[in-house]
Amino acid sequence: MENCDCLVLGLGAMGSATLYHLARQGHDAVGIDQFEPGHVWGSSHGHSRAFRVFYRDPLYTELAQAALPHWQELQATSRIPLIHLCGFLAFATPDNRMMEDHLTAIRQSEAPFELLTPAEVTSRFPALQIPARSRVCFTPQAGFLDADRCVATHLAEARRLGASIHGQVTVEHIELGRGHTIVRTSAGDFRANRLVMTAGPWTRQCLPELTLPLTVTRQQKFYFQPSSPGALEPTSLPVYADYDTRYYGFPLHGPGVKVADDTRGAETDPDRIDRRIDHQEGERLGNWLASLLPQRTFKLLSGSTCMYTETPDQDFLIGRHPRQPGIIVGAGFSGHGFKFSTLIGLMLAQLATIGSTPYPVQRFQLDRFSRP
Ligand SMILES: Cc1cc2nc3c(=O)[nH]c(=O)nc-3n(C[C@H](O)[C@H](O)[C@H](O)COP(=O)(O)OP(=O)(O)OC[C@H]3O[C@@H](n4cnc5c(N)ncnc54)[C@H](O)[C@@H]3O)c2cc1C
Repeated sequence: MENCDCLVLGLGAMGSATLYHLARQGHDAVGIDQFEPGHVWGSSHGHSRAFRVFYRDPLYTELAQAALPHWQELQATSRIPLIHLCGFLAFATPDNRMMEDHLTAIRQSEAPFELLTPAEVTSRFPALQIPARSRVCFTPQAGFLDADRCVATHLAEARRLGASIHGQVTVEHIELGRGHTIVRTSAGDFRANRLVMTAGPWTRQCLPELTLPLTVTRQQKFYFQPSSPGALEPTSLPVYADYDTRYYGFPLHGPGVKVADDTRGAETDPDRIDRRIDHQEGERLGNWLASLLPQRTFKLLSGSTCMYTETPDQDFLIGRHPRQPGIIVGAGFSGHGFKFSTLIGLMLAQLATIGSTPYPVQRFQLDRFSRP
């Protein structure tokens, strides 16, 4: 049996960030994952995740703004480019309710934003031609994160600061003890004073006793190769999101231009998810891309599957296990959690070690679905 002070179960976006913050605070921290960290079977793989402050709920704008300096600090310390602040441009038809709600919220926030006409969009970003009559909001304090690098950098920095990382270790059972938790795994047992559970889509399986109301859906993302790369780089193109179709795209980064649909896919089981790519969806997204960036053609390069894990009220789950104070859970990060991951890692590390966090996590408590 290996004794450890802080054990982190799951090393995707949230677990890698938690391990980093624990190690940074000087704690004896061990991270385990059922796969080799950096794998493509969970929710955190790939070259890009949008970083936006444009939310209909001011809490998430506030959290995104709080996360930004942490990403910039990690980038400066590691000297690895992690965040590209190319801006985020949302557009929709004039009667789109979701857009209206986002505009109301951004006006009340402290985040800078600009309302642009479609013609102003094209004069600023020459490749982009959005439909006439669209309402457009551009937020400059936004862009995208290089997801794979963010996870790898959190882990590399955690290791440099003394954390141990074990891949190919599957947690099979968790036993609640007095003042400690026994974690039985495929590679032996751990006795942990504090356990942080960041198991993403596998959270329900890891904590069956809590019957957490988490839904896991199958999502897809696609890469396209443009016939010419000009004006598609992050220096000339923001992240762009269509609030009518819920499709969104990125500038050229990694193997090509990434496009995805934020609509919830079919419910799935993380161990049985269908990894085959739906080429019709790829074609649909390719047509949307070609209509927005019309001076070039796009060839479908690749597609991959990923999972959203969501709560019924769509708020995150961050907090203490109701029956074991030494277990802290972070889950339900849905299709927009990545941008917050470095901050959520800090919150989880603080909850595990000092028992509280100065960040606003009251809304995210685990027991909110079981209260009368
Ligand atoms: C297609 C797609 C697009 C997205 N786009 C954006 C975006 O643009 N912007 C944004 O901010 N967010 C975005 N997100 C959301 C974001 O990526 C997720 O919220 C985030 O990555 C969730 O991370 P996680 O650490 O909770 O889960 P995961 O990355 O799935 O990590 C969980 C880890 O736990 C491990 N694990 C589970 N069970 C066990 C076990 N029994 N034993 C050992 N290890 C175990 C798994 O192997 C895994 O590595 C997107 C998500 C998807 C799927």
